[in-house]
Amino acid sequence: MKYIILDLEWNSAYSVKESRFINEIIEIGAVKLDENLNEIGRYQQLVRSRLNKKLSSRTKNLTHITNEDMLSGVMLEKALADYTEWAGEDTLTMTWSNTDLYVMRENLKSFLGKSRMDFIERYADLQKFVQEKLGVTGNQISLMSAVELGGFNPEDYQAHRALGDVIACADLFRKYFDMSAIKKYIVDTTTDDYYARMDFKPYYISDLTSPYVDKTKMQFRCDLCGTPMKRVGKWKFANNAFRANFKCSICENEFSGRVRFKKTYDSVIVKSNFVKPEPQKEEKAPEQAEAN
Ligand SMILES: [Zn+2]
Repeated sequence: MKYIILDLEWNSAYSVKESRFINEIIEIGAVKLDENLNEIGRYQQLVRSRLNKKLSSRTKNLTHITNEDMLSGVMLEKALADYTEWAGEDTLTMTWSNTDLYVMRENLKSFLGKSRMDFIERYADLQKFVQEKLGVTGNQISLMSAVELGGFNPEDYQAHRALGDVIACADLFRKYFDMSAIKKYIVDTTTDDYYARMDFKPYYISDLTSPYVDKTKMQFRCDLCGTPMKRVGKWKFANNAFRANFKCSICENEFSGRVRFKKTYDSVIVKSNFVKPEPQKEEKAPEQAEAN
């Protein structure tokens, strides 16, 4: 199996046809590594915008790609045909975070009427893998932050240009290469399931009768004495959560119990908490109120 690291640069441009902004691909860069992680090929191609003759100033400042550069590019369909041939078969494709794949997919759908990325067979999110190796949890870190943490010099790379970014990625990949650790990030992108997952948008369940609502998760215990609380009032739905008032029959403790059911592609995530009523404020003396 060979390894490909792919990166896209894009420009936000308004599509009159779709009445919305689209992140239009303006550059594709990639490196290919053999089984021993030796670089065996590079791909770099500027892509000509079909929506605009000019790039946004944000894109120009970030990438240093000029309008002339962009206009000298090839059309996306040509770039992707060349890329597909260059990529070849039996590959694992990686990008720094999966955002690039969403951008690629949107471009394929909007401009080429395609729904699948046929040039990717297997995919892994290199950002997740490298962050695991760096021990960075929580927030996603930028590629150049990872480069620094990995002991490389960010100035050695042409950042925010597709090829510069993938060369930096390749250095990180080589440094932290560990097949057993990468394996868990590899997904098969040739299945219907992969695309269904990509298209799925998580949502909160708002209907109490939904089969995804597990009523046993809608019970509370008194935080003071541990007794199961009694619900006093109807469930209401607000801010993505079911809410109801609960009361303890032993110690008269009261709170508002809240439960959220979030439907993801293959599970339902349940979160619950309770909010105690604000303690009654002492009435202010009239002169104090006036002083305020
Ligand atoms: Zn109690």
